[in-house]
Amino acid sequence: MPKSESLLFLKSLKEDGIEQVYVPSKSSHPVIQSQIRQILSPPNVLVGGLETKSGFPLKTCGNDNASAGINPGIEQLRSEVLKCKLCAELAKTRNKVVFGDGHLQAQLVFVGEAPGADEDEQGLPFVGRAGQLLTKIIEAMGMTRDQVFICNVLKCRPPHNRPPAPAEVAHCRPFLKRQLEIIKPKVIVALGNHAVKALLQTEQGISQLRGTFQQYEGIPVMCTYHPAYLLRSPGEKRKVWEDMKKVIKFLNASED
Ligand code: URA
Repeated sequence: MPKSESLLFLKSLKEDGIEQVYVPSKSSHPVIQSQIRQILSPPNVLVGGLETKSGFPLKTCGNDNASAGINPGIEQLRSEVLKCKLCAELAKTRNKVVFGDGHLQAQLVFVGEAPGADEDEQGLPFVGRAGQLLTKIIEAMGMTRDQVFICNVLKCRPPHNRPPAPAEVAHCRPFLKRQLEIIKPKVIVALGNHAVKALLQTEQGISQLRGTFQQYEGIPVMCTYHPAYLLRSPGEKRKVWEDMKKVIKFLNASED
């Protein structure tokens, strides 16, 4: 990204309440580091602060997502999901099934609730306003969207964005389980109440579990607020950032 665009990007992060960014010290010139400090202002600047041995926040596979060769099982699963008609209403009203998108060997998977109108139109997860905020969160963590995997509990849009019905979650949950078995992430971020409940099958809500690591099939799950909630309650963004710092720390500590 050109220098001027990076600085504009940082300004927009600040407007979104993000006050820390991870910048690998190896890749940033001292002048840039000082500009970042001016924009985000101390004490909340982590320039190279969470650096790993490799000088990059997360190990990447160096593979290209488009290649089914990375993870052949995912293409079989994708074709099953795209044909699914278990929820008669959703199968009738959907435009596109939203399977999920990102790195097929991602260390980090984000799980949201269900596609909205933009996602249903494009067939991709988190591409509307909430998705743009999620992208900023991922980038503030020092990653890009194609280094992580993003999906939802439901793969089809509920009409008028109504909450997922329990039967719909029951139909779709095995697909999510298989996605996670194939990708084998080191950590999952559950975005909002529906993701938390579908993954953990708990009666506890997001307000009780937010900021904590729980377990799904032996994988740590960080429970945090959904970006759509953050758009309505921007004052809560700071808490999500605190949660994401725990995720970064966990990933860095688990680096082989
Ligand atoms: N909200 C979600 O939970 N998922 C999306 O893909 C978009 C918005």
